[in-house]
Amino acid sequence: MEIIEKRLAELTPYKNNPRKNDQAVDAVAGEEWHVVSFSGGKDSTAMLLRMLELNMRVDEIIFCDTGVEFPQMYEHLDKVEQYIGRPVTRLKAKNDYEYMLLNYEIHKRDGTIRTGYSFPDMRIRWCTSYFKRDMVKRHLSGKSYVMSVGIAADESGRARDNEKRYPLIEWGWTEKDALNYCYSKGFDWGGLYEIFRRVSCWCCPLKSLDELRKLRKHFPELWAKLLQWQENTFRTFKPNWSVQALEERFAREEEWEKMQMSLF
Ligand code: SF4
Repeated sequence: MEIIEKRLAELTPYKNNPRKNDQAVDAVAGEEWHVVSFSGGKDSTAMLLRMLELNMRVDEIIFCDTGVEFPQMYEHLDKVEQYIGRPVTRLKAKNDYEYMLLNYEIHKRDGTIRTGYSFPDMRIRWCTSYFKRDMVKRHLSGKSYVMSVGIAADESGRARDNEKRYPLIEWGWTEKDALNYCYSKGFDWGGLYEIFRRVSCWCCPLKSLDELRKLRKHFPELWAKLLQWQENTFRTFKPNWSVQALEERFAREEEWEKMQMSLF
């Protein structure tokens, strides 16, 4: 705890950047709607809590619900709301993830109909557009706003939008700082960050093999759902891996580990 306090004192926002300090004051005086983009993960949680602690202006906190967050994430959301004594705006699209993946009808130019978007990949991230970008755009349509996004200082390469603000980067907070800060405030996501380095939709194909291995081990019921989805859709979960192929690989690895253990 003491270490966290000490690190926090070192990380005084804008300490080394008077220009950012001026910008913060300007923003408070301005007419723009101040929105926090809140994914519920460690970075956006740390950013939100600290912004409120510093009395920075926050008019609205927006969470885009894909419906496929880990159950612990929904508990975390309730806990944050209770802690800050303010509601989080939860934006939810009309259709759920499973329906879009397997059943949504896509009418193509050539007159044919494709059923379901199937699994997203790096090029086709239909879920990000449908559950997040479009929802926020619609919700904030007609409003002049400034959005704060929780990207940590050691991930600053991802902060590419000049229109947005990145308080964690301005403060020099790393991912580790963000997580420790949240822990120090009593938020632990039911242990999710002890399993995964990053927490996003449980069914995201952009997860590494290692994260998927952990998903299978710690959340067998979600893994079973993924196997079922794979059986009912045309694209493989990852470019070179179906969920079934991953299942076989992970099961083989487990057998191998057991065998090794029995030798010693
Ligand atoms: S985390 Fe993955 S599954 Fe979830 S919206 Fe983003 S790309 Fe889609």
